Amino acid sequence: MKNYSRRSMLAVGAATFAVTASAAQAQQPAAFRPVPTKDGFTTLTSDEALQFLIDGNNNFLAGKESGPPLGPQRRLELAKGQAPFCAYVTCSDSRVPPELLFGRGLGELFIIRNAGNTVDTAAMGSIEFAVAVLKVPLVVVMGHEKCGAVDAACKVIMEDARFPGAIDDMIHPILPAALGVRDKEGKINLEDAVRENVRRIVHRLRNEADPIMLNPQREGKLKVVGAYYELARGLVDFFDQPKA
Ligand SMILES: [Zn+2]
Repeated sequence: MKNYSRRSMLAVGAATFAVTASAAQAQQPAAFRPVPTKDGFTTLTSDEALQFLIDGNNNFLAGKESGPPLGPQRRLELAKGQAPFCAYVTCSDSRVPPELLFGRGLGELFIIRNAGNTVDTAAMGSIEFAVAVLKVPLVVVMGHEKCGAVDAACKVIMEDARFPGAIDDMIHPILPAALGVRDKEGKINLEDAVRENVRRIVHRLRNEADPIMLNPQREGKLKVVGAYYELARGLVDFFDQPKA
């Protein structure tokens, strides 16, 4: 089930290069590129928005984070209104904060997080708000390496594990993904389950969501992309992109 994108392969080379580059070069931050807006909305297309994330992650991989403006002037500007360019659904895990992985600043990413990046009613409503009201051209759903919530879902299936409080209920929506990648011996590879969980959510957002999600996708104004984050390497692999 491993499905590494071409970019994932290329990034191995990029990361190796980054390690061998001189320390001085690595410390040179890339110039921060502000996100263009007009009349209170981003003017980026879906592909341009995705490229902003890819470029930001490449800087992160190379140790060239640009440090977005966070000062009083930027805060004053944003107090008048937000114009994020992406709705970002990911896990609550403390190792996967989207702004840091892409070097983006205040007012740029509309983030929905819970353990296991599940899209429940609250998450779906938040995504729809970002699309319908804030007019984001891109929705990303990102799982990650060694996700505890997905691992718990695998343990429910493989070991009949039970968890206290609301954790069992929280894990419940992840079970079909874990079941879907179970092999003949009943074993589940965690990375396969994480990627399958993302794939299923992305499929739902592309095909089985409300018209306020589906119409902008048909009109070419919105793309939904699935991603996987590798903890040690720092790479965000955008492995599930809509067919052109
Ligand atoms: Zn997680």
